Amino acid sequence: MAAKPYIYITRKLPESVIDTLKSFADVEMWDSEENPVPRDILLNEAKKADALLTMLSDKIDKELFDIATNLKVVANLAVGFDNIDVEEATKRRIVVCNTPDILTDTTADLAFSLLLMTGRRLVEAVDVVREGKWKSWSSYFLAGTDVHHKTLGIVGMGNIGEAVAKRALGFDMRVLYHNRSRKLETEEKLGVKYATFDELVKQSDYVLVLTPLTPETKGMFTKEVFKRMKKSAFFINVARGPVAVEADLIEALKEGEIAGAGLDVFDKEPISPDHPLLQLNNVVALPHIGSASVETRTAMMELCCDNIEAVLKNEVPKTPVNRELFQLV
Ligand code: NAP
Repeated sequence: MAAKPYIYITRKLPESVIDTLKSFADVEMWDSEENPVPRDILLNEAKKADALLTMLSDKIDKELFDIATNLKVVANLAVGFDNIDVEEATKRRIVVCNTPDILTDTTADLAFSLLLMTGRRLVEAVDVVREGKWKSWSSYFLAGTDVHHKTLGIVGMGNIGEAVAKRALGFDMRVLYHNRSRKLETEEKLGVKYATFDELVKQSDYVLVLTPLTPETKGMFTKEVFKRMKKSAFFINVARGPVAVEADLIEALKEGEIAGAGLDVFDKEPISPDHPLLQLNNVVALPHIGSASVETRTAMMELCCDNIEAVLKNEVPKTPVNRELFQLV
């Protein structure tokens, strides 16, 4: 009888989610829900594994692929896959899968919440009440910036970008977007307008980034870009930290080049309470929770398991990243 395939999961997931995998494979998990698997353990497991179910905090690179001689599939529990060297995987015909679409609305809800929290100073307001600093009513007490009828500029009008645009239209916002390619159908359907990166940056009251992290988008927001934004504008990042040069963002916030920032992602995560961004009261910081609803995270785990099962059974997975391996491009 042929040996069962071996699947390693780099974070503790609920047993109920991995039941199906256990019916045809040996499955092991890193025994922590919160802490990432140490690199040496990941490499050791990769040596034996037919499949890896990974988190965005795991670096899946050439060093790992070189020793993972049985590896057939890496299923990443995220839509972004900047933690994986997909080119190296493809060279070895290792399938890389992500979790697009199913997290779109959940992440869009979070992105729009972050925009509201930032513009309307909601975190400061909650703190004032909790800390007993609410003394009376006064005209400009915690007065923020309106969201309705303002201009939202979305850099990266993909699945999540479009879902945010729909929410923004409900708030009577004017929506501009910038992509490398124009989306005429979306423009017609939603009434959003294409802008060059420079136009978008200059005209928007809220600049929201929702691109993947790639060599092209890394460091896209520099000191010069923040300078071109309105001084009253807010920078909202739900993509990946390195799309902005963090030191430049801090300087822009300190020097009043922009009014504030709402950030779900950072250069190096997690950040600690002494991080310079957390010393600024015009920053709202969240701990990378874009897709974190129970429903969506469960669906993402299930999709990862389905993808692993498909590859190990020589079927086409639902959401491969290197689609060329299946002649899907
Ligand atoms: P998507 O549907 O692939 O959309 C990405 C969009 O970015 C596309 O419209 C693409 O259009 C645009 N883009 C790519 N490169 C660009 C560039 N150089 N300049 C301008 N636009 C560019 O992906 P999605 O599902 O919306 O997710 C987007 C990203 O959000 C993910 O990759 C991930 O990093 C991040 N995310 C974060 C969280 C969180 O928890 N904070 C959760 C989910 C996703 P063109 O190809 O035409 O340029």
